[in-house]
Amino acid sequence: MAPFKLVYHPGYDLHLGEHVFPSQKYRLIYEALLRDGIAQPGDFLTPEPAADADMLRVHTPDWVHKLKTGHLTLQELMHLEIPWSREMVDAVWLATGGAILAGQRALADGFAANLAGGLHHAHPGHGEGFCAIHDVAVAIRRLQADGAARKVMVVDTDVHQGNGTAAIFGGDHSVFTLSIHQEHNYPFPKPPSDMDIDLADGTGDEDYIAMLEKKLMVAFDEFLPDILYYIAGADPYREDQLGGLSLTIEGLKRRDRLVFEYARRLSIPVASAPAGGYARRTEDTVQIHVNTVIAAREILGRTRAPV
Ligand SMILES: [Zn+2]
Repeated sequence: MAPFKLVYHPGYDLHLGEHVFPSQKYRLIYEALLRDGIAQPGDFLTPEPAADADMLRVHTPDWVHKLKTGHLTLQELMHLEIPWSREMVDAVWLATGGAILAGQRALADGFAANLAGGLHHAHPGHGEGFCAIHDVAVAIRRLQADGAARKVMVVDTDVHQGNGTAAIFGGDHSVFTLSIHQEHNYPFPKPPSDMDIDLADGTGDEDYIAMLEKKLMVAFDEFLPDILYYIAGADPYREDQLGGLSLTIEGLKRRDRLVFEYARRLSIPVASAPAGGYARRTEDTVQIHVNTVIAAREILGRTRAPV
C-alpha cells in the first residue's frame, strides 16, 4: 500500500481523439501505477464531480453556464483549443472534484495526488490552452471557505507559465503563486505570479534544478503555507512537442524530489496535479507523471506531515 491516497476516476479522459493533448494519459498513469506495483487498488479514491457552487468561487456564472450548456462562441472555442463535448465538461468537473479531494487528503495524510487536472490556464471568465476550469484554484477557494487552509502556495513547474493562476490570485496575499517556465513560449502576455522564473530556451537539468532550488528557498522564506498545490507538468521534457526546455526524465524526477524535500522539511502537506505533457512518445509523458508519485513515496512517505 502507498503511504497516501491517489485520486482517480475513469471519467477523467476528455476523449479528444487525435489531439496533441493525450487525455487518455490519466488512465495510462493509473494503469502504470498498478502494473508497476507502486499502488494497490485500495490506494485509490474516486472523486465526485465538483459542485457548481464551488466552480462559482472562481469562475463567472456566465462561463460556468456556457460550459454546461455548450454555448461557447467560436472565439471562445479557439481560445480553449479543445472541442466542446459532454465528456470534456464531465471530465473537468470530475478533475476539479479530484483537486478538492486531493487537498483534503493531503491535509490529513501529508500528501495526495490527483491524477488529472492542473488546468492552470483557465481564467474566471474564459478557458484557454486546453483548460476550461481552473481545478486547483477552485480547490484552494473551497479549502479556504471550509477553514481547512488559510495560506496556500502554488508551485507550478509546467513549461508554460500559469497565467490563469496568476490572474485569479493576483493581489491576494493568502495565496502565493510560483511559476517556473520557458520564457519564450505560450502564454503571451504573462500576468505576473508572485514569483516568476523565466527560463531560456533549451535550459537543461542542472541549471533548472539550481534555479528552482534557489527560488524555492526565497519563496518559503517569504511565505509559509498551510498546504502546497504542486502543478507537476511533464512538458519541460526535452522531447516535448509544445515545450522548448531540455530536461531529462531523470531531471524531472529530481525536480519533483526537490519540491517534496522542501515541503517535508517544513512539514507542509502537498497535493499534486499532473498538468501538461506532450512528449512524442506518450509513454514518456506517463512515466514522468508516474515518477512524481514515486518521488512522493520516496520523500514524503518516510515521515508524514502533522495533521
Ligand atoms: Zn504546459
